[in-house]
Amino acid sequence: MNAQKVRKVVIAGGGTAGWIAATALSRFLGPLLDITLVESDDIGTVGVGEATIPTHRTFHYLTGIDEREFMRATKATFKLGIAFENWARLGDRYIHSFGQIGKPNWMGEFYNIWMLAKDRGIGGELGDYCFELRAAEEGKFFTSEQAKTNYAYHLDASLYAAYLRQKCEGRGVRRVEGLIERVEQDPESGFIRALHLKSGEAIEGDLFIDCTGFRGVLIEQTLETGYEDWSHWLPTDSALAVQTRATGPALPYTRAIAHHAGWRWRIPLQHRVGNGLVFCSEYMSPDEAHDLLAQQVEGERLSEPRLIRYKTGRRKKVWNKNCIALGLSSGFVEPLESTSIHLIQINATRLVQQFPFAGCSEAISNHFNAQAERELEKIRDFIILHYKATEREDSPFWKAQKDAVVPDSLSQRIALFRENGLVYRDPDELFLTDSWLQVMLGQRIDPKGYHHMGRLMTDDQMDMVLNGIRNNINKALEKMPSHQDFVDQYCRVDEA
Ligand code: FAD
Repeated sequence: MNAQKVRKVVIAGGGTAGWIAATALSRFLGPLLDITLVESDDIGTVGVGEATIPTHRTFHYLTGIDEREFMRATKATFKLGIAFENWARLGDRYIHSFGQIGKPNWMGEFYNIWMLAKDRGIGGELGDYCFELRAAEEGKFFTSEQAKTNYAYHLDASLYAAYLRQKCEGRGVRRVEGLIERVEQDPESGFIRALHLKSGEAIEGDLFIDCTGFRGVLIEQTLETGYEDWSHWLPTDSALAVQTRATGPALPYTRAIAHHAGWRWRIPLQHRVGNGLVFCSEYMSPDEAHDLLAQQVEGERLSEPRLIRYKTGRRKKVWNKNCIALGLSSGFVEPLESTSIHLIQINATRLVQQFPFAGCSEAISNHFNAQAERELEKIRDFIILHYKATEREDSPFWKAQKDAVVPDSLSQRIALFRENGLVYRDPDELFLTDSWLQVMLGQRIDPKGYHHMGRLMTDDQMDMVLNGIRNNINKALEKMPSHQDFVDQYCRVDEA
């Protein structure tokens, strides 16, 4: 009774996903498991994925990772949000910050009061009431144990995998370098039994975690799980990534700059800047993308541009038989809101919580899959919002986005905000109400009405509340160092 049926865990792939899975499992369940990770230097990793969201700090807190040590090891900087440029109209700019906006009350969000104040001509900008947004605009940053700033990081993806690897090996995770050539299955159940490497070695296991990236060597090439294609909703399918030398102080936010057939990212690290052009091949050829990137990218190039192709969508089951897909093998939604690493972390911690000690069953995999599916669908809707809510008609790509049919779940959200000024967060979704709000307003969705809670205040009371919030933010900002100065004294690593 109650025998441990799953002890040998084999992780296939050693990119960000593989080493995050190894980190979570070895940190929490290490003594109960025998963990092996197989990776191939010949294949390498995707080499992108450098912007994160605040849940990254939660994962590090849970897994006992020290912030300064991690930031030095990965040459990381801080991130307070994402600046969206040219999205609703050419020349537009807004920041989706990680901070809370104003002070909500139980009846609703602060923006209802702000909207009334704005109608009365005393509201100013919504961003005036968000500390993180103001700090981002001023290029400032500070953190301490007492500070409540909500932030994330920009990190070097290759260094991050290497950093986690060293931690995991210290906890007894066995790393095998080798190319997986064949996957052996049980002839009756179809469960995976072993990975056969080019070297001739066989790695047997009870549970297999597929972190082999877009290849999906286990979950797709072997188990033929199937893929739900979402490219009719999110049609970009290519990215050109290039690294450049920094041309100025590191900004504490990612830039996402729309162009006529997609958008471009700019991610500042301590030692370089990560750049990438995301585009839709129906509207832009790789040659055109090369030219545009060359024109727009700032600073000396440190690498040759690398083309990455992808198809937006999700694996039909992330857990199939005794195989769980994490990272790119589980599906992909473009990196506009830096959500992929978060999804790896949340599914890795969920696996720790739901670890199948009693064996893999359909009951447990169905439960896991349903949670992962709901979560990803909400993220998908949030990303589509940036494309759908546009007024741009200056290129065939943008015209198509504006006219596109979107999932009903998103249409309903947009209608709710447009008609009644209501935004909400479902219990199992990642993005906060303030995130939906910032993007809806940033994309120029203008609500016809809002909650009248502000009318319960006199003008003087409203003035006092609004000034109080703005003054507190101003006072805190005055004392803050610049982001670059803070990074320099907190975690700077000088080039050798
Ligand atoms: P990979 O990094 O591709 O790793 C695959 C591993 O599997 C490698 O170790 C490889 O050697 C191994 N492997 C494959 N086949 C075999 C085999 N046959 N035998 C042995 N080993 C094998 N996410 C974010 O959160 N923020 C971002 O800003 C962001 N930007 C992105 C930009 C782009 C253009 C893309 C495409 C993705 C981005 N992502 C981002 C997603 C992020 O890059 C990934 O989620 C993350 O890097 C995890 O990748 P992975 O480990 O699943 O795959």
